[in-house]
Amino acid sequence: MSDARRFRIQGVVQGVGFRPFVYRLARRQGLAGWVLNAGDGVEIHAEGADEALARFAEELRRQPPPAAEIAELQTVPASPEGCERFEIRQSATTRAPTVRISPDLAVCDPCLAELFDPTDRRHRYPYINCTDCGPRYTIIQGLPYDRPLTTMRQWPMCDACADEYHDPGDRRFHAQPVACPECGPTYFLTDGEEELERGHAAIRETADRLREGGIVAVKGLGGYHLACDAENEDAVQALRERKFRKDKPFALMVRDLETARRLVDWTADADALLESVVRPIVLARARRGLAGVAPDNTDFGIMLPSTPLHHLLFESGAPGFLVMTSANRSSEPIAYEDDDAFERLAGIADRFLVGERPIARRVDDSVVRSGPSGPTILRRARGYAPGVVARLPARRPLLAVGADLKNTVTLVVNGDAFVSQHIGDLGHPAAREAFRATISDLTTMYEIDPRRLLVAHDLHPEYASTVHARELEASEWVAVQHHRAHVAAVLAERGELETRVLGIAFDGTGYGDDGSIWGGELFVGSVAQGFDRVAHLRPATLVGGDAAARSPVQAAVGFLAEVETLVDLPDLSAPPFRFPPRYDQARRLFEAGVRCFPTTSTGRLFDTAAALLGFTREVNFEAQAASWLEHRARQASPAEAFPCSFRDDQLDYRPLLAEVIEARRRGEPVEHIARGFQRGLATGLRDAAVHWADRADLEIVVLSGGVFQNELLLRDLAELLGTSGLEIWTHRAVPPNDGGISLGQAALAAFWEPQQT
Ligand code: ZN
Ligand code: ZN
Ligand code: FE
Repeated sequence: MSDARRFRIQGVVQGVGFRPFVYRLARRQGLAGWVLNAGDGVEIHAEGADEALARFAEELRRQPPPAAEIAELQTVPASPEGCERFEIRQSATTRAPTVRISPDLAVCDPCLAELFDPTDRRHRYPYINCTDCGPRYTIIQGLPYDRPLTTMRQWPMCDACADEYHDPGDRRFHAQPVACPECGPTYFLTDGEEELERGHAAIRETADRLREGGIVAVKGLGGYHLACDAENEDAVQALRERKFRKDKPFALMVRDLETARRLVDWTADADALLESVVRPIVLARARRGLAGVAPDNTDFGIMLPSTPLHHLLFESGAPGFLVMTSANRSSEPIAYEDDDAFERLAGIADRFLVGERPIARRVDDSVVRSGPSGPTILRRARGYAPGVVARLPARRPLLAVGADLKNTVTLVVNGDAFVSQHIGDLGHPAAREAFRATISDLTTMYEIDPRRLLVAHDLHPEYASTVHARELEASEWVAVQHHRAHVAAVLAERGELETRVLGIAFDGTGYGDDGSIWGGELFVGSVAQGFDRVAHLRPATLVGGDAAARSPVQAAVGFLAEVETLVDLPDLSAPPFRFPPRYDQARRLFEAGVRCFPTTSTGRLFDTAAALLGFTREVNFEAQAASWLEHRARQASPAEAFPCSFRDDQLDYRPLLAEVIEARRRGEPVEHIARGFQRGLATGLRDAAVHWADRADLEIVVLSGGVFQNELLLRDLAELLGTSGLEIWTHRAVPPNDGGISLGQAALAAFWEPQQT
């Protein structure tokens, strides 16, 4: 007996070989009908024998293609349409799109095999791809995902490519970016003015240049990298000078896993991360030095080749360890458009290796680290974005604009929370431009009418993100406190929106309920009910407010004044402290009460400790002093915890800092003192957590905020809380730093009720 069924499938089902998979499945069961990409996923009409339909439905669920992710599969009864065979139909674009866009995927093994096969027609073709691999988010210009709505539309397929594209038995059946040397784009080398080489010759010439110590801008999936030989100290130094990047570590790309093992200590976790289709930058303990690559750091950030081009560069003799850093000046957003790259990178890059395929939007490399409770994403971008990270009960479209540092934005459509790729620091005009572009990109793609939007933004009235949010043509706005957003993000990722927890947000800075600078906060509550602040770091005075984040000795003034209420301070301009005059200048402002703000920032507490241990210069990237302190502490053997007390609602750092000063005067090694400081802080935090969990009857401690990027602090806390019966929840899908704020804002805003007036 012949019957028919309709299937509506939602999730990551476009651009991952889903329709070809359905096609083959239907043919195998002898079914007729059709499959098409709809705005909200994939729609299937199948007709044929009852058992065949049942088997088809089962296999659909059981073995979708590797990169696909089925969020929902609905079966709807239908009447037979009298189809004669099964076919892939043109995309339907009737409804507003809610489909999940696939992130970009690293080149797969079968494509790599063809890439290096001299008899293959795509031998050494840098744009080889198939339905299992290649670009997605970085070429999509509109939904549904089909070639005319990608940056590949200007290259009509040749007959051979078209045959593969239309052959259901082929690996490239409906692979939208399919191309070959006959019909597709290629790479060329230029000095910014003239084309020097083309095709494989351009790649070979680039490899030669890199070997000779040159700096080449290389176009990747989501933007340009600046590449140079990581073992060539002069090249690395030149790159730092030209890029105005003094100390911030450079990421490395290494030829293969074996080469990676020569560079860093290896663990199974790190291995899995390196080889995942995301191909992120993975932070791992360095086994050797590379001058200038990661000053003051005990880790390297390394990644494996992710595009065919990268593999070709290494095959053509590029150095085995390449610096591969985002192509920009200082903290500007990564360059991704060719003309912009030529202009902004003039004077930095000697040559440009330019791919002809345009990049639809900029997407940086992702950064991850494996830690005590699994991998932590520190920068969420290529390979992850714009994946859905949470389901939220938002009754209408919701946009959360994040914070001003490490900005991301989150758009919630039909309950799916899409978190954008890392955008950057909005202090920079170009980053603000990218921020606005990303918002309009996401809302346009999902055809959201801005006037229907609920917009969530930070409580800080002067954040660039807040100001922009207020200028949007939205229906309503809600301000979300920074540290509550941090804690809420952890719970949103886990779908634990009703769960009551103790939330600890340790952070550099954030605008508090009382307008002061928060950053050492303990909350009790849930996303659904909201969070009450129950305790915090003992307040100190911050001279110069947020500007003090640049100068550890300036940040130290107010914290040390608190210590002075307990013990006498030594002369800090004398050895071993040698504080520069900046300290005395800030101290005078403090005494006069000029530009003084109250703070509970743990980030500034770390800065104070770092200053006492010798980091007395200005920082040149965010959280540099805290990171310096962590890496010193990691080099010490486990130490005793310095004293840090918790009473009622305050974590008191005064004994902790007093001990740092004493140990320093006794001449103890900096590494040892850094270790004692961190362990002490962890102990105080353990006491606070145990106290509040008991008092509020809680079993779960949530940790978020930039300070929890500190792996050693996490390890200490995990160990110290191990016997307490308390469970620790940290981030999995978004970063603990401000890259996670937009998700937390969205989660809290989803429960926000408009005030009745
Ligand atoms: Zn492939
Ligand atoms: Zn072709
Ligand atoms: Fe923060």
